[in-house]
Amino acid sequence: MKLKERYKRFRVWQFTPVHYSMDMERHRCCNCKYEFQGNYCPKCGQKADAGPITWKSIRLGIMNVWGIGNRALLFTVAQLLLRPGFMICDYLNGRRQVSYPPFSMLVLVGLFTYYLAQLFDLNLLISEEEGVFAFSSLSAEGGVVSLFLSWLSSHFDYASLFIFSMLSLPTYIAFHYSPRNTRHTIPQELFIQVFNATQFLCVSFLCSVALKFDLLPVSVGSDIVLFVLLPMTLFVSYRQLFGYGCWGTLWRVVMCMLLMMVCIGMFYSIGFVLNDLVVGGDVRTHLSLLVFLLFVFCITSGFMTFVNIWSMKHRRSRSRR
Ligand SMILES: [Zn+2]
Repeated sequence: MKLKERYKRFRVWQFTPVHYSMDMERHRCCNCKYEFQGNYCPKCGQKADAGPITWKSIRLGIMNVWGIGNRALLFTVAQLLLRPGFMICDYLNGRRQVSYPPFSMLVLVGLFTYYLAQLFDLNLLISEEEGVFAFSSLSAEGGVVSLFLSWLSSHFDYASLFIFSMLSLPTYIAFHYSPRNTRHTIPQELFIQVFNATQFLCVSFLCSVALKFDLLPVSVGSDIVLFVLLPMTLFVSYRQLFGYGCWGTLWRVVMCMLLMMVCIGMFYSIGFVLNDLVVGGDVRTHLSLLVFLLFVFCITSGFMTFVNIWSMKHRRSRSRR
């Protein structure tokens, strides 16, 4: 019973995580001497409670160097782990204050996970030697691609952003006619992927900690974890964000993953074609691969759009009845 109560409270928190209170007392701004009501001075923007310098000011001052003083970074990360889709939905619908600025968050989380992994000798899922995204093994061929990949292998934040940016077009196609956040745009899509990339960095970091200390119930390789982890995190956030049911979300996530592979394949073949043109090589094989992948992409996305429009019309006619 107690567990049920807790879950209920958790569900309430998932929908409304923050409450804002308005300070109705009259203040006199320490900076510009303007008299006002509220949390901030409307004339110069200084906080109403900016009093004398204390130990708290020192702590905030040091944290502000990293830009993590005001809107707590940890709170946003907790939201990304516990209510990812709802938070992204809030952000897209104009509630910007619920989140730490997404792009800086991605870079900061990337830096933190990178240094923590170095410090504790963790085997992160995105790594230079091992794992599925072992960029160095891919970079053996193709000069143009290899330069980019070797740079990516030492920058977790941009590497995960690169992986997730390959998901943006498939997600746009798969969830364009969804019940919630219908007809989202490409810029919104990019923000969704920045959040996804950050969430994935955090989850994979937690996972590598669990692997290091043998906390997982079964012994598995890191690539298996990755292949289960990526669809699972995507499933949770897309279900909350787009509002399809369990099966509806599941098959769309699977299709997204497949289309992502096709997109990555296209990216590589474009790199190889460029490489062939610059260095000189057999352009024809790489070009035909590119055309083939493009064909697969168009056919699959056309099919998905058809199914999505059909299911949207079906949904509408059911709700009219
Ligand atoms: Zn003022």
